[in-house]
Amino acid sequence: MRTLIVGAGVAGLTLAALLRQRGERPVIIERAADFAHSGYNIALYPLGSRVLHGLGLHQRFLDVSVPGRYYRLGNSHGHIAHHFDFGPLAERYGPIQGLRRSELLEVLAAGLGGVPIRFGTTATRFEDRGATVRVAFNDGSSSDFDLVVGADGMHSETRKAILSEREYAYWESGWGCWVAWTPADLLPAETMAEYWGAGALVGLYPVKDALGVVLAGPKTALQKDGRSGFAAQARKQFGTVGGPVPAVLDAVEQTSNPFFWDLHDCRAHQWAKGRIVLLGDAAAGFLPTAGVGASMAMLSASALADELSRTDAAHVEYALRLYVRRNKQRVEAAQDNSRKLGRLMFVESLPLAWGRDQLMRFYTLDQALKQIVEVMEGSI
Ligand SMILES: Cc1cc2nc3c(=O)[nH]c(=O)nc-3n(C[C@H](O)[C@H](O)[C@H](O)COP(=O)(O)OP(=O)(O)OC[C@H]3O[C@@H](n4cnc5c(N)ncnc54)[C@H](O)[C@@H]3O)c2cc1C
Repeated sequence: MRTLIVGAGVAGLTLAALLRQRGERPVIIERAADFAHSGYNIALYPLGSRVLHGLGLHQRFLDVSVPGRYYRLGNSHGHIAHHFDFGPLAERYGPIQGLRRSELLEVLAAGLGGVPIRFGTTATRFEDRGATVRVAFNDGSSSDFDLVVGADGMHSETRKAILSEREYAYWESGWGCWVAWTPADLLPAETMAEYWGAGALVGLYPVKDALGVVLAGPKTALQKDGRSGFAAQARKQFGTVGGPVPAVLDAVEQTSNPFFWDLHDCRAHQWAKGRIVLLGDAAAGFLPTAGVGASMAMLSASALADELSRTDAAHVEYALRLYVRRNKQRVEAAQDNSRKLGRLMFVESLPLAWGRDQLMRFYTLDQALKQIVEVMEGSI
């Protein structure tokens, strides 16, 4: 099978490694010049990371990541209102691990068995020729493929090429966030923390020897106040009771040109057209709220690889239909869950945040994890 994978991100590399394990040599193209740009933290549930067992990469993954066993939730005054222990979940399903995105990509790339990634390369045109797809590249060359996988992320060009604007939709939260790094010792080991406020949110997530930190707020306020102005507002709201928040705000302020994440997602109503299929965020992008986008991308990649292992080039479209049938509903259920959490987390007014804080007092670990457990159990 001549397979083109567009995008060497989490989904594309997982699929490539799985295909490679079966002796295939997919062509992998990546718009970026290298992995150096890939600098933010990712928490992976066993939902996604368990695919690394079969690839012989799980120990390597554990070596570069740290467990995220405890979760602290702070309220709109900066007081910690909840301590959750994910230990029982880890015992049942496997650990939740935090790492840098670049480290995850390097772990996955170790499974490529010498297949190169063509960095700095994009597809400029897809021509459906029935039995094949002819793809033109930005270097002026073109090649024919039996299958094209669009794994090119939230703003997928492949999606734009095969779907009309009515066939996919962005979901806007109206919020955005800056992402930076701080020393690991702001929190006890194995601990993640979030402070949900009124019009501001601060998050801290462990990776090896550091914490990935975010400062989020409504985009209108972020634009109006700028990084320093907005950090000052957040300092007033959360920073008066001690704890790690002031150091996070300092890091966000002092980092030159921190990663900015527009907090929206995207859903494609159709995942496949002919021999071209969408995978990962290209098919269903994720808000960070439930921390499952990368896990779902890996889960989808393994479902696609499995369906592709049962077909030949002549019957690719049938395999793609089965992949979509098997995966779309569960991915969209997880996406719905992330949106629901987004509505809780991205609250602007003080009275609403106060009401939410009252509600959260009755929030249990089981409620927090219900949907993720359902996906893990395969019951969605
Ligand atoms: C700041 C941040 C924090 C996150 N935290 C978490 C978390 O804690 N847990 C979690 O599960 N998820 C998290 N996510 C979401 C997660 O990163 C994504 O859901 C996941 O990476 C999706 O995988 P993907 O392969 O579909 O997309 P990506 O990993 O984004 O990969 C897409 C790749 O395609 C490349 N590309 C784009 N356009 C083209 C093109 N035209 N041609 C060729 N290549 C192209 C991109 O450069 C990129 O390498 C986070 C995301 C961000 C931005």
